[in-house]
Amino acid sequence: MQALIVIDMQNDFMPGGPLGTPGADELANLIHPMMGKFPLVLATKDWHPKDHVSFATSHSGKKVGDVVRVGEVDQILWPVHCVQDTKGSEFAEGLNTEKITKIFYKGADSEIDSYSAFYDNAHLRKTGLDAYLKEHEVDAIALVGVATDYCVLYSALDALELGYDVMVIRDACRAINLKPEDEKGAVEEMKKKGVKIVLAKEVF
Ligand SMILES: [Zn+2]
Repeated sequence: MQALIVIDMQNDFMPGGPLGTPGADELANLIHPMMGKFPLVLATKDWHPKDHVSFATSHSGKKVGDVVRVGEVDQILWPVHCVQDTKGSEFAEGLNTEKITKIFYKGADSEIDSYSAFYDNAHLRKTGLDAYLKEHEVDAIALVGVATDYCVLYSALDALELGYDVMVIRDACRAINLKPEDEKGAVEEMKKKGVKIVLAKEVF
């Protein structure tokens, strides 16, 4: 069975938000008709406590874009975003959530970030998504949402490692592009490792 996973379509990642991703506000309308084509639709939410380790404000003397070492992993520092139970962490306006069966929350631990929908960034703890997919006999997933160069990328790579057939619908994702080539680099890396990169019109 194939599942559609909608990644981090939340207010703070929309243009005008603290981590506004260019063009992300165009996605709700693109994703909506796709939801009806999959037997199972799931979503993730970035879901941080307000002192989260990924926030520049949690580290004295550091600014957005700095990199700090957290345990075994490098952590880029972001503006405060997707704080639990705030407007910013709600689903983006215009996203029809009726068909979303279950939401998986990531980054809820203050001490570690989680780009992937499957694990935290140190691969120490699972989010529950893998077990849920296995329980529902899902063997193939399609990813849409934000951001191509972070949460979509790491979710796709983890899914491959976990044995799923993985498709990323490229035009239904948007990238942060801290560096202008980041989206391209992410797509190339995914392709090289075996992720199917497609356009919506090729699959629907
Ligand atoms: Zn985050």
